[in-house]
Amino acid sequence: DWIYMNGKYVKKEDAKVSVFDHGFLYGDGIFEGIRVYNGNVFRLDEHIKRLYDSAKSIMLEIGMTPEEMTEAVVATVRKNNYRDAYIRLVVSRGVGDLGLDPYKCEKPEVIIIVQPLALFPKEHYEKGIRIVTVPTRRNTPDALNPQIKSLNYLNNVLVKIEANRAGASEALMLNANGYVAEGSGDNIFIVKNGVLYTPPTYLGALEGITRKAIMDIAKKLGYQVIEQPFTRHDVYVADEVLLTGTAAEVIAVIDVDGRQIGEGVPGPITKHLLTEFRKIVQIEGTK
Ligand code: PLP
Repeated sequence: DWIYMNGKYVKKEDAKVSVFDHGFLYGDGIFEGIRVYNGNVFRLDEHIKRLYDSAKSIMLEIGMTPEEMTEAVVATVRKNNYRDAYIRLVVSRGVGDLGLDPYKCEKPEVIIIVQPLALFPKEHYEKGIRIVTVPTRRNTPDALNPQIKSLNYLNNVLVKIEANRAGASEALMLNANGYVAEGSGDNIFIVKNGVLYTPPTYLGALEGITRKAIMDIAKKLGYQVIEQPFTRHDVYVADEVLLTGTAAEVIAVIDVDGRQIGEGVPGPITKHLLTEFRKIVQIEGTK
């Protein structure tokens, strides 16, 4: 495996970052998770755009144009020769001193890792997963804005720990007002009476690229999609629940906090969306 580090390819064992890197010291940096299907990079333009938006928001000068970054991602995928993989693109503030002032960090660290990935075992996609709501709340845009895909993922890590401790595959974060926000690394949709609902991102959800893809697919298939705040109760009484994300793809949820969802098996609309999603990712994408 070859890791892209600031314009050079380095062997996996040799890909090391300084202990003075502010990404390590302070979580000062941003990232993207991107998928390669059948040799095509899925929605790369949208990921690059979100990366540069995150960078702008935290005043991080990447030092490469979006076009150069796009080329670097594609070249790293080619070099590693995977047909199906997950790409982790990380830009940290770079090496500075121990103070948190980014002023002393002269050059950002740009890293691209390409690895095979299956977040959940195959049978989870066939049978659906159990999830729980957890005490850790999603921050709302008044704090670190969830639209920034920053290296500060401690909130999400705590959520994952809480899910593990509850014996669940994934967890659902509520925001400070008790509205459903998102999973630790995925967006949520519920289905009620044939209509899809997903929380508006201002409630504290990342504007997921898979979320957008599913909204587009759903509309094309003739389903109505409404962005609307909802609560845990609405999730419990939904006909279907599904999560979407680059790593998770599209996965059915069959139990939330011990409440069985629908018949306790992946529902027809979820299955329809998953089938269509799997078709589209094979043919779309940057070659
Ligand atoms: N929410 C969070 C907190 C995430 O980290 C991710 C993963 O990227 C998502 C949602 C899903 O977004 P996307 O579909 O763009 O991967």
